[in-house]
Amino acid sequence: MAKHLTSRKDDYSKWYNELVVQADLAENSAVRGCMVIKPYGYAIWEKMQAELDRMFKETGHQNAYFPLFVPKSLFEAEEKNAEGFAKECAVVTHYRLQNDPDNAGKLRVDPEAKLEEELVVRPTSEAIIWNTYKGWIQSYRDLPILVNQWANVVRWEMRTRLFLRTAEFLWQEGHTAHATEQEAIQEAVQMNEVYADFAENFMAIPVIQGVKSESERFAGAVETYCIEALMQDGKALQAGTSHFLGQNFAEAFDVKYTTKEGKQEYVWATSWGVSTRLMGALIMTHSDDRGLVLPPNLAPIQVVIVPIYKGLDQLEEVSVKVQEIEKSLRNRGVSVRYDDRDTLRPGAKFAQHELQGVPLRIAIGARDIANNTVELARRDTLTKEVVSMDEISNLIPDLLKEIQMALFEKARNFRDEHITEVDSFDEFKNVLKNKGGFISAHWDGTPETENRIKELTKATIRCIPLNVKKEKGNCILTGSESNQRVLFAKAY
Ligand code: AMP
Repeated sequence: MAKHLTSRKDDYSKWYNELVVQADLAENSAVRGCMVIKPYGYAIWEKMQAELDRMFKETGHQNAYFPLFVPKSLFEAEEKNAEGFAKECAVVTHYRLQNDPDNAGKLRVDPEAKLEEELVVRPTSEAIIWNTYKGWIQSYRDLPILVNQWANVVRWEMRTRLFLRTAEFLWQEGHTAHATEQEAIQEAVQMNEVYADFAENFMAIPVIQGVKSESERFAGAVETYCIEALMQDGKALQAGTSHFLGQNFAEAFDVKYTTKEGKQEYVWATSWGVSTRLMGALIMTHSDDRGLVLPPNLAPIQVVIVPIYKGLDQLEEVSVKVQEIEKSLRNRGVSVRYDDRDTLRPGAKFAQHELQGVPLRIAIGARDIANNTVELARRDTLTKEVVSMDEISNLIPDLLKEIQMALFEKARNFRDEHITEVDSFDEFKNVLKNKGGFISAHWDGTPETENRIKELTKATIRCIPLNVKKEKGNCILTGSESNQRVLFAKAY
């Protein structure tokens, strides 16, 4: 049986790492900063992928695939983007190994096999994609291009954490090309809304939509839209980003189109992405000291059925009943697992399914069969009730919806209780130290002030929220005038 997890109160970060490993989601690998995503974790990621993919297609996008490697000359073409990512790039310099003459049984890079041009392992794909779009776009008839790719990328992160920040991660990256600025901005906003919709209605994670300040903006973007979530330890997590790239990449790769009027214009661009970091968001939003808590939409198994029996005769009797229940639940689109392993006692099975966040557990024993009942347990509230066997299949689909909503409500209440307005720097520091969460405060709009606040407190501007009322005030640090509050937090 699994060990007890460290409690969140005692050591949040240790709790997180233990949960990821013990719930069988992922583990560290032999490669620094790179993780192995295990089948149970991957099954959850696949559910996210399937829903996002559906949403992208519904908004007119198609999938394509571009190379893993970006020739250095292409990578450096858009200077700001290149400069922003340069420090995190893995670079391929050779294409062959050979036996090492000085070291029997070992291999070395063949000095003769040096690449003429180094290849950057993509940290993001704007460069290779815009170099390709140059060949795809001639006239206004070729626009818009609405393409997404599912891929892995590499960013040589120094401080890594399972799912939250890894050197290689899985993600999707949308890359779109448009005839007008207006259309590109609309696309970037729309995809940020798709992310918010997905996070809230599918993952039950409340998010705040906003734009990034200049210092947190994507390298090479004109504007970065984002969704920001709040974790249970009061730290914020950037859950997704959508960039309006202006004409920066079109200029760098000379991508022009002929307008209806016959004029040559540069093309407008967006890019947008979410990654396996969403797994981290999921874990840190809903889970508790017993383990993972999964919203039913993301649960690979929504209902687990555990038989309680003495001897094979009883097991057989229970199994006959279970088969009926399984069938009627599957007919209602519910994913079910019958855990009839005879290597584990029921208590150990309960603990494992709790650890792995299965939303509902049904236990059936001989007494239940005599009474025509089952015991139904909810993972999110840890409550149990006895339910009639005849009603169980009708009840469960509604109950799964209820759990999905309850998880969202709970997370939203927590988030809302952790947005604090402050009007002085003392208050700011006090809230940061004693409460955490988002701090809504006036800022004078300069990167210098933002940096100074970061140096003094480690808090950064998570976003300038969209759709909030303008309000005159004074910057908490410099006292200069400000037109809107922004959200600060310590972040992952
Ligand atoms: P970006 O291209 O920097 O806008 O990032 C796109 C998405 O990937 C955002 O949702 C980021 O939060 C996420 N992300 C960035 N770096 C990492 C990393 N090292 N590991 C996992 N996810 C990441």
